[in-house]
Amino acid sequence: MLSTDCVDAQVLSGREAMPLQRFEFVQVRMGVDTPIVVYARSEAHAVRACRAAYARISALEQRLSDYRLDSELNLLCQRAVGQWVRVSPELFYVLWRAQKLAHQTGGVFDVTVGPLVRLWREARRTGKLPDAATLEAAKARSGYQLLELNRARRAVRLRVAGMQLDLGGIAKGFACDEALRVLRRYGIRHALIQMGGDIVAGEAPPGEAGWKIALAPATPEDTTEYALLRNGALSTSGSTEQYAEIEGRRYAHIIDPRTGLGLTRLVLARVCARDGITADSLATAAAVLGMPEAKRLERLYKGVQVQVWEADLRQTATRLTPNGKL
Ligand code: ADP
Ligand code: MG
Repeated sequence: MLSTDCVDAQVLSGREAMPLQRFEFVQVRMGVDTPIVVYARSEAHAVRACRAAYARISALEQRLSDYRLDSELNLLCQRAVGQWVRVSPELFYVLWRAQKLAHQTGGVFDVTVGPLVRLWREARRTGKLPDAATLEAAKARSGYQLLELNRARRAVRLRVAGMQLDLGGIAKGFACDEALRVLRRYGIRHALIQMGGDIVAGEAPPGEAGWKIALAPATPEDTTEYALLRNGALSTSGSTEQYAEIEGRRYAHIIDPRTGLGLTRLVLARVCARDGITADSLATAAAVLGMPEAKRLERLYKGVQVQVWEADLRQTATRLTPNGKL
């Protein structure tokens, strides 16, 4: 007769003998294709885990989106003028990290740029820049000093009416982090999540050194390079993809808060970091800062690598991960 121990052992070894298989899913979240790749022992397990990860991103979208009229973020913008409003832990954490980076960069990274982003979107639609008075009015409603946080009460207050918070430069990285956390809770260790230019990876695919990520060429002459990513994040930001073309000039969707306008330089920034929220926000900041200031971010955040390409500063370009490791 088999002892219980023995039966357990057989069942366990049977399970362990099942090889890990690769599963890939794609859904749209926060306005971008969001592929998730996992290694799991069964399709049912992969589906369960990824469903939970996508549900987590959806829940975050409801909190952090500036596109959704009824998001927690947009309701906050209406309610928090001149008074403290308590917010969810997720929204508070993202705002806290954003404000930390705003202080570190002298307001170059600034989630209060919402009014300026809205002007940029209008300019892209109409092909016309805002007039000086409209721009000044939007600038007066922006500025990280106008956003106050109270950590003990997990509360937020806005100093002037008409402010609009915009987490477009930080929320996707955070959402990837949270999706990875959910997958880990489901026992999945080998995973990759991508939201547009933001990528977060868990353990490498079984038997490999890392997830092979094709890097967007920094300049048209560049051939595609690859980075190997594991247990870390990689984000790309810049002026090469989303821009408004006005009177022969390109204005990128990243705003330089000092001018109130989209970046007019040709710039591409890549940041490797331990987590997505850091990589995403620092990549946006690095694009605005340009070289050499962007390199300063490496001293402020542990384990971070920053690379910036400027159209006229090609000599700053070096390989992101020369030895294939983070
Ligand atoms: P993408 O949205 O293409 O992933 P980024 O992560 O660089 O690129 O974020 C750009 C977005 O960040 C803009 O669409 C806008 O929502 C927001 N944003 C623009 N300028 C700034 C800025 N100076 N600081 C913080 N966020 C910004
Ligand atoms: Mg970003």
